[in-house]
Amino acid sequence: MTATTPATTPAPTLATTPPTLQSFVQDRWVTPARGLAEIRSAIDGRVVAYASSDGIDFGAAVRHARAVGGPALRALTFHERADRLKALATFLSERKEQLNALSADTGATKRDNFFDIDGGIGTLYAYASRGRRELPAERFVIEGDTEALSRGGTFMGLHVMTPLNGVAVHINAFNFPCWGMLEKLAPAILAGVPVITKPATATAYVAAAVVKLIVEANLLPKGALQFVCGSAGDLLDHLDGQDVVSFTGSADTSDRLRNHPVIGRNAVRFIAERDSLNAAVLGPDAVPGTPELDLFVKEVVREMTVKAGQKCTAIRRVVVPRASQSAVTEAIKTQLEKITVGDPRREEVRMGPLASLSQRAAVREAVADLIAEAEIVAGDPLVAAPIGGDMATGAFMAPVLLACADPLAARRVHTIEPFGPVATVMPYDTLDDAVAIVAKGEGSLVASVFTHDDQVADALVFGLAPFHGRVLIVDRDCAKESTGHGSPLPGLVHGGPGRAGGGEEMGGLRGVFHYMQRTALQGSPARLAALTRRWLKGAPAPVAEVHPFRRDYDALTIGDSVETDSRRITIADIEHFADFTGDAFYAHMDEAAAKANPFFPGRVAHGYLILSFAAGLFVDPAPGPLLANYGLDNLRFLKPVSPGDAIKVRLTVKEKRPARKPEYGEVRWDVEVFNQDGETVARYDLLTMSARRGAASSAAAA
Ligand code: NDP
Repeated sequence: MTATTPATTPAPTLATTPPTLQSFVQDRWVTPARGLAEIRSAIDGRVVAYASSDGIDFGAAVRHARAVGGPALRALTFHERADRLKALATFLSERKEQLNALSADTGATKRDNFFDIDGGIGTLYAYASRGRRELPAERFVIEGDTEALSRGGTFMGLHVMTPLNGVAVHINAFNFPCWGMLEKLAPAILAGVPVITKPATATAYVAAAVVKLIVEANLLPKGALQFVCGSAGDLLDHLDGQDVVSFTGSADTSDRLRNHPVIGRNAVRFIAERDSLNAAVLGPDAVPGTPELDLFVKEVVREMTVKAGQKCTAIRRVVVPRASQSAVTEAIKTQLEKITVGDPRREEVRMGPLASLSQRAAVREAVADLIAEAEIVAGDPLVAAPIGGDMATGAFMAPVLLACADPLAARRVHTIEPFGPVATVMPYDTLDDAVAIVAKGEGSLVASVFTHDDQVADALVFGLAPFHGRVLIVDRDCAKESTGHGSPLPGLVHGGPGRAGGGEEMGGLRGVFHYMQRTALQGSPARLAALTRRWLKGAPAPVAEVHPFRRDYDALTIGDSVETDSRRITIADIEHFADFTGDAFYAHMDEAAAKANPFFPGRVAHGYLILSFAAGLFVDPAPGPLLANYGLDNLRFLKPVSPGDAIKVRLTVKEKRPARKPEYGEVRWDVEVFNQDGETVARYDLLTMSARRGAASSAAAA
């Protein structure tokens, strides 16, 4: 894949010679002078670039991230970081054609680029949008509910997440130079943690081009991103407990890094995503002629051939009912015969070469090992007829399908990952056997189940789930819109137990929280409310002189309250409400039946009647800055309200959040409804939009 030239070899200088890739460290481009490794084209073996991390002071890079990048990122709110990610995604998207063109030499076809380049940019967009929607306009996150810790309510607890003060070190595999880098970058930057990213050398020229664009865009603060081309040197020696290493690659390298003394000694967070022998299981109901069998065949062929099978999520084990084995095998063979291998730039080519000749040699070696337990039923690892390519200089390989007769007894087919267009068909007799066969992989990133039968799905999904980070269930109902077996998605976790590394990436905000510290805070409600900028029960709730509905968003203070008069509920109210809405449920209308119900003392008011009367009590009706009520959260009816009871309401400003448009802000109100004895009968969060200063005056005047 790469070969190190002698230390005396000068850096190529002619404009026509392949470029020497630069690193971007301490906000400067660094050009290496020595130890240059050749990076060769997957298509024809010509040298396309040179790389080396010679000249980088890794300790200084880590210090720069901590001293410059971290503080700059932490000075921004989640929303500001999200906005920069979004702008960056747009910037890259407008220039993605140059990246696509460059990727061909890695062996990537147009279809492969869709996963790597578009997929990477899409992940930036996805995190930008989540940051805006799901995180506050703050620099910390409150996680979960409060914990009551005292009888009198003067002492309580809650959890906050704050960004680590260190650096995120990202070490990536060769197969997705763009997506692999961006799917790790986006959650870290959104969390507020600077990144040092190191691509695999074999495809580093694509990653380098992405980083050049990111630097050119000038959207990330200084020190937020550093890029190391070539070996990681002594980078890990400089890490401590505020840092995170996120690694994708082989189990061997992962073990070496995880066992680095500094990682253990300083409890550096270590996330690994590595070898994974993912499986697809065909349900026994999916016999020949069913849509599920056809979908299964299509998916196996796609997974074997996208990126020439060099995907951490690719299907390696094809687990089928014994009765369907020959039909499935024949169908896969027929489809594989249609796969055209060759120069990925040619329109008629479906599958490009592997990333390098050494990668092809490794895959051939893996197939040779597997042959001890399986036989080849389609393809020949040594023979291919590449269109527009040459087998001697290009890393072309035909897809190879194997069959293993006794997968429960076999070992290699479950432990050797041929990182190329190779999969093994394995028959099973019972659903328990199918689960046992898949579990022999000792943990994978993803499994997919093809069935249209509830019981089959139940047995397989809950049998397989403990061994996987993701389980996809495909049937005729979702196939058309399914994102497929091989696509990790920003909103879902990517990672798996055991052999797959035991790590997790993405998964929406879960991926952001890997870069943050969870801290339990304990104290008085008033102190915790002030710290978290969120009103908590028990914190001061001063009754505002002006009804808060008359105040614009900017003038509202957390804790501002309204306490209403009380309103007695009569049997006539209940009957009127039942008649008006049509809700004549017996608990409201039939005294004997209501009494027989264990929850009610007799006829009670409708919950929605209480909500409606509560609104009638707290609303200030005249036009003003309050624009709209857009929902209720966390509604609970806590005690029945009987005819004769009197309710009153306390409405408190709980939380404020600027909206994307500058004219509005979102306000969350705590609403508590009490009875005449001061007992809480209902509680919920009311969500409103309020006009901001300036915009308010026109609304008020309207
Ligand atoms: P490697 O484990 O060799 O390399 C992964 C990354 O680790 C590269 O960036 C590499 O850099 C870096 N690295 C290697 N040694 C060190 C070290 N001592 N310190 C710091 N970083 C280091 O994996 P490859 O990408 O080369 O792929 C090899 C095999 O790994 C594949 O054939 C496949 O079997 C498996 N793989 C599995 C994946 C999965 O998720 N299932 C994904 C990708 C690969 P450099 O390139 O500069 O050596």
